[in-house]
Amino acid sequence: MKVMKFGGTSVGKPERMHDVAKLVTADEESKIVVLSALSGTTNALVEISTSLSVGDRNTAKQQTEKLEAHYKDFCSKLVKSAPALEKALAIVQEHFEFLNIILKISFSEALNKDILAQGELLSTKLFCVYLEEKGIDHLLIPALDFMTIDYYDEPQIGSIKVKLAQLLQKHPDKKIFITQGYISRNARGEVDNLKRGGSDYSASLIAAAINATVCEIWTDIDGMHNNDPRVVKKTVAIEQLSFDEAAELAYFGAKILHPASIWPAQMYKVPVKLLNTMQPDAKGTTIKEEAGSTGVKAVAAKDGVTAIKIKSSRMLLAYGFLRKIFEVFEKYRTSIDMITTSEVAVSLTIDSDANLADIVKELEPFGTVEVDSNQTIVSIVGNEISETENVMQKLFAALSSIPVRMVSYGGSRHNISILVSRQYKEQTLQLLNKGLFGLD
Ligand code: ADP
Ligand code: ASP
Ligand code: MG
Repeated sequence: MKVMKFGGTSVGKPERMHDVAKLVTADEESKIVVLSALSGTTNALVEISTSLSVGDRNTAKQQTEKLEAHYKDFCSKLVKSAPALEKALAIVQEHFEFLNIILKISFSEALNKDILAQGELLSTKLFCVYLEEKGIDHLLIPALDFMTIDYYDEPQIGSIKVKLAQLLQKHPDKKIFITQGYISRNARGEVDNLKRGGSDYSASLIAAAINATVCEIWTDIDGMHNNDPRVVKKTVAIEQLSFDEAAELAYFGAKILHPASIWPAQMYKVPVKLLNTMQPDAKGTTIKEEAGSTGVKAVAAKDGVTAIKIKSSRMLLAYGFLRKIFEVFEKYRTSIDMITTSEVAVSLTIDSDANLADIVKELEPFGTVEVDSNQTIVSIVGNEISETENVMQKLFAALSSIPVRMVSYGGSRHNISILVSRQYKEQTLQLLNKGLFGLD
């Protein structure tokens, strides 16, 4: 059994959904098909939620009406027959009635999660109407019946495995199962989600839970590229990546994969394939245990990073200093990405400033604390790169004009990370494209 996940653009237009139906029926293998919301929907739902959170019901209502009109139009092009259209429109009506009721209730975080879930609920149900019209046998299995996260928002893989197995066992005759990406149930039993871009994570968790033959991530590009195609003009697809390399790239900003989406597949040794819905015959990228080759494979950038420097002469020849600092971050459940130390100072980076004020307050007794927000981590990822000839030389030659704030080298054999101010991100990625890959 395999997993096939289709992202927002892959289901964003009626004709794309038709293509998805062709792809899921292209072979005989049984499969779980994981769908995202239609492209633009989750952003629209975030906007509705934001309007409600500031008490602007009128704007929220207008935004909801606009989205509903989009869905009605989508349905009219998705299916042909009158009964199928009636079914599709009834689904749209049901979900927008729900949203309209929500517009009248006072806003809460739980309500926000309910709003955000509507996209994936709609896309999967509409896809099923289309499959039904085409006479393609399938079954919708609601993600809210098996995808759970704990009090710390961590997926409960053990429980997902058991619940999913029970669901599948009930339908031994079915070969195509459809489910929602992104959405989950939290420890309080409420509707929740795996954070933006989370459908990749859903797919990987499902693939791990059922021990899938492969986890296919179908998107709008032919695999992981060597650099961010949104920033740099000339980029090329990478044929093979190890789980470790892919995990680093996902974590350090390659948007094609959700930051946490690799570990479930890696843990359960399920190969991941990144494929292009618009170019299904393109090779794409295979992610598995072996890296395939050595050397630098790709660079990625992660924005929204905050650098914190703690300067203290008490650090001189002292032990236990770093432990005390780390304990502050642990207390506020804030993970540290990069760290460098000198005799009198330690610099580190965090990607969530949710508890920044408290963290700084608790660090102040240890020394002078300096905070720089709006930083970007640029990661250079590959296999055994620290042992690759001239890599540091090439890196610093390429970046001679960029003020580099921090460098992290040797933490893993797959990664060299540098920290630059956000304003240098584009230039840094372009210079590395030339300096490391010879692409202009
Ligand atoms: P989906 O909706 O299918 O989940 P996403 O928009 O989340 O698709 O991810 C695909 C996009 O990721 C691509 O269109 C591309 O612009 C962007 N991207 C960023 N970095 C990379 C990279 N290194 N390789 C490929 N795509 C990348
Ligand atoms: N629809 C969600 C989002 O836009 C999840 C996903 O597409 O992966 O973030
Ligand atoms: Mg995505």
